Amino acid sequence: MNYQSTRNHRQSVSSTQAVLQGLAPDGGLYILKDLPGLHFDWQSVLSLDTFGMAEKILSALLPDFARMPELVRRAYTGKFSTDELTPLAAVGQDYVLELFRGPTSAFKDVALSMLPQLITAAREQEGITDEIVILTATSGDTGKAALEGFHDVEGTKIIVFYPDDGVSAVQKAQMVTQEGKNVCVCAVRGNFDDAQTGVKNAFSACENQGLLAGKGVRLSSANSINIGRLAPQVVYYFKAYADLVRRGVIAVGDKVDYVVPTGNFGDILAGYFAKAMGLPVGTLVCASNANNVLTDFLHTGRYDRRRPFYKTVSPSMDILVSSNLERLLYLLSGCNDEEVAGYMEQLKTEGFYQVSDQLLDRLKGEFWAGFCDDAGTKQTIGQVWQNHGYLCDTHTAVAWNVAQQYRAAVSPSHPLVVLSTASPYKFPVAVLTALGQTPPEDEFDAMERLRELTGVEIPKNLAGLRSKQAIHTDVIDRDDILPYVLDKVSRKNW
Ligand SMILES: *Cc1c(COP(=O)(O)O)cnc(C)c1O
Repeated sequence: MNYQSTRNHRQSVSSTQAVLQGLAPDGGLYILKDLPGLHFDWQSVLSLDTFGMAEKILSALLPDFARMPELVRRAYTGKFSTDELTPLAAVGQDYVLELFRGPTSAFKDVALSMLPQLITAAREQEGITDEIVILTATSGDTGKAALEGFHDVEGTKIIVFYPDDGVSAVQKAQMVTQEGKNVCVCAVRGNFDDAQTGVKNAFSACENQGLLAGKGVRLSSANSINIGRLAPQVVYYFKAYADLVRRGVIAVGDKVDYVVPTGNFGDILAGYFAKAMGLPVGTLVCASNANNVLTDFLHTGRYDRRRPFYKTVSPSMDILVSSNLERLLYLLSGCNDEEVAGYMEQLKTEGFYQVSDQLLDRLKGEFWAGFCDDAGTKQTIGQVWQNHGYLCDTHTAVAWNVAQQYRAAVSPSHPLVVLSTASPYKFPVAVLTALGQTPPEDEFDAMERLRELTGVEIPKNLAGLRSKQAIHTDVIDRDDILPYVLDKVSRKNW
């Protein structure tokens, strides 16, 4: 029983159970009991290839999984455009860690390729015969990455709900053309909140009223509170470090700073896990867009979600409640579950909390934070292209901008690795505008125009989309999500 809830250490489970459950019953997040206590031999993984690294790191973080090498192979073989999965590009005096070379061109592929393997393995090991049905509401990137991960995975089915007027044309095309005998995609009239609320309500109705009892199915979710989504992200911090050693930029033991475009705090928390496992991480730089709740928090120790919500050109970071922060608070408070439960209760009831001075000191020792608005984001895309001939997407540009703020403020002596979370072709209209062009209305035309202008290749999965047939055409109201789910799970074949 090596995992426990951040809100109550007595709520403890195995890593297989943690992956199957997602959220702990008390609303807390599952976390490994003693991360530094793993005594992970971090130096020995630096000489391995990415697959080998993933096996060792995931086996350490999720110790109850019996066949990790096989799960890693199944998750990643042939899915990414390169076997190293996450290449490191030198750009100017910095480094860009490209996390978008997977099947949907967003960094969520790294974790969502692995999660289905972990869920099915956990299901087998725990002797569960029920089919696992994944329900997900998406604002764009997660839905497609989850569909790619789960399609045709034995013992699972997946239903993705997306807001009818809340995703880009490219994102919609990515989802409604998804093939696979166990997948279902449905539009919900309204915005992302409508879709998410409808899905949450469906979840709790099924649980509380036992609507699925005896039907041979159980519901699960693919969002980033699941430890099975977080753990695979730890690997690329090691991979980037090993690349810098191989290139002679650093010696083993030297520190590296990582700059992370942050929304739900999953990606950057994985960097903190890597550090806790021994990797010589210097500072973790938290980069936000105009929704800068985390910048304020890391400066003042006060987390306050009572603020305006901005729709930005980096939509995957438009978040006011960063769920994974809870795990960091737990670790930095010395695993004080009562303290964490108190903060989370206050956030829920009053909309804010203020951490102790001691905790704030610790946060400041590990993290640096900055933000960048849409104008800055676009300006950065233009500058990086002009100065370095490197084309980056809007989320990466936020991180690049904050990396330069960090350099100006701190003059760091370590190399900077900027995490790049999406292909520029996922956001072609914003990127074209940033390059001073007037984008065509049609997003696919914009993609083509961006290619002509820059000569950067369009990822295959995006280039082929336009000619693909839409398979999923259902559109429903938010209040019909529950009956829709119940109808779906009652049918054997989709
Ligand atoms: C999800 C996402 C992020 C934010 O990652 P978190 O783990 O939520 O902090 C950043 N960029 C892109 C492109 C994303 O899809």
